[in-house]
Amino acid sequence: MTIAKGGCLCGKLRYAVKGQPQRLTYCYCKYCQRATGGGNLVSPVFDSANVEITHGKAKIYEHRSEGSGKLMYVHFCDQCGTKILHTYERFADVTGLYGGTFDDPNWFDRNPETTKYIYLGVAQNNTVIPAGFPTFDEHASNIDGSLNQTKVFDVHTLLD
Ligand SMILES: [Zn+2]
Ligand SMILES: [Zn+2]
Repeated sequence: MTIAKGGCLCGKLRYAVKGQPQRLTYCYCKYCQRATGGGNLVSPVFDSANVEITHGKAKIYEHRSEGSGKLMYVHFCDQCGTKILHTYERFADVTGLYGGTFDDPNWFDRNPETTKYIYLGVAQNNTVIPAGFPTFDEHASNIDGSLNQTKVFDVHTLLD
């Protein structure tokens, strides 16, 4: 069973995960842009039972999603400010990691079967999306559970 580790900038928080993520989301929504200060969040999503904080205690910020109206819980380091993971009111059994906090951010699979690109409708200019992956203008599913329209690009595609 794969075990990967990660943590915050200062090392006060450390975590470990078991197995591959059940899915991987590249999210370009405004929340993720603001939370990361970048263009997107690379978020491998695990069964919560497979994620353990092994060192330190995360501080939790409760954020109400503009889209769903549900709470999401941002777990971060109160010493260096790094966000390491999300838990969700809407998706109670899963934990979304901030992928860049893994010691090796390339350890998990990035395949079209389990990876999707969401909220491309608000992605920043000059974002490039690779060919062959499911993409969505907004979230992949609606609050009632229905699925949104997906689009797969034939070639690597520049958004502007
Ligand atoms: Zn820290
Ligand atoms: Zn997002």
